[in-house]
Amino acid sequence: MTFATATAALPATLPPAAFALRDGALHCEDVPLSRIAERFGTPTYVYSKASILAAYAGYAEALAGQPALVCYAMKANPNLAIVNLLARQGSGFDIVSGGELQRVLAAGGDPAKVVFSGVGKTEAEIEAALAAGILCFNLESIAELEVVERVAARMGRRAPVSVRTNPDVDPKTHPYITTGLKSNKFGVAYADTLALYQRAAASAHLEVVGIDCHIGSQITEVQPYVDAADRVLDLVEALEHEGIRLRHVDFGGGLGIAYRDETPPAPGDLIRALRERMQARGHGGKTLMVEPGRSIVGPAGALLTRVILLKHGETRNFAVVDAAMNDLMRPALYQAWMQVLPVQTGNGVAARYDVVGPVCESGDWLARERDLAIAAGDLLVFTAAGAYGMSMASNYNTRGRAAEVMVDGSLVYEVRRRETVEELMAAESLLP
Ligand SMILES: *Cc1c(COP(=O)(O)O)cnc(C)c1O
Repeated sequence: MTFATATAALPATLPPAAFALRDGALHCEDVPLSRIAERFGTPTYVYSKASILAAYAGYAEALAGQPALVCYAMKANPNLAIVNLLARQGSGFDIVSGGELQRVLAAGGDPAKVVFSGVGKTEAEIEAALAAGILCFNLESIAELEVVERVAARMGRRAPVSVRTNPDVDPKTHPYITTGLKSNKFGVAYADTLALYQRAAASAHLEVVGIDCHIGSQITEVQPYVDAADRVLDLVEALEHEGIRLRHVDFGGGLGIAYRDETPPAPGDLIRALRERMQARGHGGKTLMVEPGRSIVGPAGALLTRVILLKHGETRNFAVVDAAMNDLMRPALYQAWMQVLPVQTGNGVAARYDVVGPVCESGDWLARERDLAIAAGDLLVFTAAGAYGMSMASNYNTRGRAAEVMVDGSLVYEVRRRETVEELMAAESLLP
């Protein structure tokens, strides 16, 4: 089959650059996806090393010449190989649990480049983070400030803190992933932020180092960030007026990626806009921080799955595949649209399918009403699945989690082997 024919058979939306058609077969970098399926089985998450590095560089290069730190929000994908790869580029990390801190340390990340976010940090987690010497606790409430202060006092330490303020801008994204509105559980109300800083500045066991915000996820415009930046910088200036000086300003993560027909700004565009605001308002000397997750790993990953069988119903046709909602939760959780492509073109007769998994839930669908020319046994791939894919996977229906592999040119590395049922049962025990 020629390249031109194969391309014509594909939907209008093309896969991200790391995943491209060559001679009618989808590749990740230089490796045919069919070869990965043969070697590692399915379902398997496939990541492109070059794509991760390019996304990180998009942020880092636009920050050249500016005091800055990119803290990868590792909840998007906490695989040790990914954390290690980014640590080697000098990346910091945004963590939301003690478990994620352990991953940073295990992967050789620098704890002095770690910020700790989240609304419910436990005393044990705070203690571990203080002992590791993290860069900053991003405080989300007065109650949390008090816990951090208490733990620091007990340890004879001063905890570095930032307050996550809620700039109350609408990032125009899905309601489940909006975080910067007043009605949200995250952050400190804008009007209360100053008082929290005064409380922190007066404490012998807290050291004010920065300010942060995070307005949402899958944001496809720069403007909400610029609006949030101006609100945050207003606070920075009010704090300086009170004699409270900050070392860093952290604008959070949330930059969107192309799932379907979105055209999000590139990381460099976002950074240039934020730098411009910092400079224009006389804060160019402060450390500019961001916490990208999805935009670093999302386009770099895909979920490879095999069609178990085709089921032709009265009103709908189903392609039952060996990946399910436990492997890729975004469609069930957010009604997210994920692109699905045949790995090899030219099989079967075209029909309209709902692509579903074998899990016993009606919510177990991965894609709806897609025109696919496929047959039982064919391979399919969900693209742009590198973020919030494997990191949200569960063992529902006693399904071992998928294998994960990283492609580097023509090489393939298994970075997490497929989970076995024995492993799933290992922590359980029978009654005596
Ligand atoms: C989830 C999260 C991020 C990353 O969001 P993305 O949309 O993946 O870029 C950054 N900061 C905080 C506080 C988060 O909760």
